[in-house]
Amino acid sequence: MAKYLIEFDRELCIGALACTAVAEKFWPRSEDGKVDLTGAVFNEETKKWELTIDEADFSVNKEAEEVCPVLAIKVTKIED
Ligand code: SF4
Repeated sequence: MAKYLIEFDRELCIGALACTAVAEKFWPRSEDGKVDLTGAVFNEETKKWELTIDEADFSVNKEAEEVCPVLAIKVTKIED
């Protein structure tokens, strides 16, 4: 089953909440007005939050990537 990596650059996030509108389970609003990526781990090297997902969660998160106005979300395939 394919695996995908979500990378979230929280610095870029302006709290537009477009991602929340399409996938609230993954992108809940945070108290500081931005969003958090549920279950993500912070990568000290890239300074991005990372979460690995499988095929079932791909399309909603791909949609979140597409609607984010500041391109803070990136979803890439890491495994076939
Ligand atoms: S759509 Fe982008 S800018 Fe808006 S809350 Fe989500 S990550 Fe942040």
